[in-house]
Amino acid sequence: PAAQIGVTGLAVMGRNLARNLARHGYTVAVHNRSQAKTDSLIADHGDEGTFVPSVTTEEFVASLERPRKVIIMVKAGAATDAVIEELVPLLDEGDIVIDAGNAHFPDTRRREAALREKGLHFVGSGVSGGEEGALNGPSIMPGGSRESYEVLGPILEDISAKVDGVPCCTYVGPDGAGHFVKMVHNGIEYADMQLIAEAYDLLKQGLGASAAEIADIFRTWNEGDLESFLIEITAEVLSQVDAETGSAFVDVVLDQAEQKGTGRWTVQNALDLGVPITGIAEATFARALSGSVPQREAARGTLPAHAGAFEVSDRDAFIEDVRLALYASKVVAYSQGFDQIAAASAENGWDIDRGAMARIWRGGCIIRARFLNRITEAYERDAELPLLLADEYFTGAVGNGVAAWRRVVAQAALAGIPTPAFASSLSYYDGVRAERLPAALIQAQRDFFGAHTYKRVDKPGTFHTEWSGDRAEHTA
Ligand code: NDP
Repeated sequence: PAAQIGVTGLAVMGRNLARNLARHGYTVAVHNRSQAKTDSLIADHGDEGTFVPSVTTEEFVASLERPRKVIIMVKAGAATDAVIEELVPLLDEGDIVIDAGNAHFPDTRRREAALREKGLHFVGSGVSGGEEGALNGPSIMPGGSRESYEVLGPILEDISAKVDGVPCCTYVGPDGAGHFVKMVHNGIEYADMQLIAEAYDLLKQGLGASAAEIADIFRTWNEGDLESFLIEITAEVLSQVDAETGSAFVDVVLDQAEQKGTGRWTVQNALDLGVPITGIAEATFARALSGSVPQREAARGTLPAHAGAFEVSDRDAFIEDVRLALYASKVVAYSQGFDQIAAASAENGWDIDRGAMARIWRGGCIIRARFLNRITEAYERDAELPLLLADEYFTGAVGNGVAAWRRVVAQAALAGIPTPAFASSLSYYDGVRAERLPAALIQAQRDFFGAHTYKRVDKPGTFHTEWSGDRAEHTA
């Protein structure tokens, strides 16, 4: 039979995506550069649906019905270009090529433009949820042309995660928009993980609590506003006992966090756009600091702390303070991430619906959480909302926790415990709500040494002061 859709690249992700499609009743053409993966997919899971295996790219393309829909699920980067190069000469006008790997969005823009010239649709699609999501329903963030979404959308929505019956997949926007949104999703994931890690550290050091005790606290938190996949797995990880030593598993893991690069991409892009995403940036730098081995060795036992003891008088009140600080910092990180989406959307003419992005992140992906409903609701109240934090719900929810947030950050500073994401989120909060910022002084300094001019609070116009002369003010 002619296949309705094809998947090339059958490592963990592609294999599971193909199985997900087959389980939903689609006839799926499958192909991999080396045949072994195709054979093992058919041998292990051939009975889950209708697969059409091919050995060569030519056979694979020929096995697809028109317009062809080809999902590429290979190692991001040069491999994606190699596969596209092989496919393109075999395709016909109107066919749709979907890159479901973790491409960097500028690559997606380049590929989309190149394929559009040949009359082909190129859909750069974010897919989140790891191998488990790919099999049972991921969050899917497809970009590209609207026309391609009309054909492809129903299939992708079909295999995506569902929350309250609503698919975690929607059209994101033209060219690189889908991969861009996936990138910011990953950046937010970095921030969320760092904030949880800081909360864990505060509970550990403030209460002297064991990993198992902290797991119970996270389990309780998971029943409230913080309910999320990441809080849930944190409790699981903290409950794990190392078989070899009998210690808590977390205590035997080396404290150096690695990264594959999506956090870095998110921060680099935010710098280009001039959007402050301090939560994501601090999370990315915190991983870098943890891996800065020579620096940590040089500093350990050398740099004086002059810190006081971390004294917690009321255990339950402290736990509640940390919970409120975590929630408030998390709202800041998301608010900043959505600012970045808005800025990139405006710059690239993507017209991204931010409320819809929060909606498709409710299931399937790593940052899935109850709290995302609140974000969707905020953008439903005002699609042009300039600041998520300023939405009435979040103003109330964060306002409720500000005093606790200040106590936690101050206590941590006095005790010498690093809380880069908690502290920078609070600084951002105070910065963005400030009546007046010391930026006035910065601008004056800039005028002093570089004649960069300034504006005044009391009258319109642009001015310069003759700093090296008579210090008189002129209109610039
Ligand atoms: P890998 O990233 O490990 O890539 C392996 C696959 O790429 C194999 O099928 C391999 O074929 C193929 N490949 C590599 N180079 C080439 C080439 N030059 N030409 C053709 N095929 C090539 O696989 P994953 O399944 O882990 O990930 C696939 C994509 O999904 C990646 O872009 C990844 O970033 C993304 N992703 C992964 C997630 C995860 O949790 N793992 C989550 C979300 C997205 P061969 O067997 O012949 O070597």
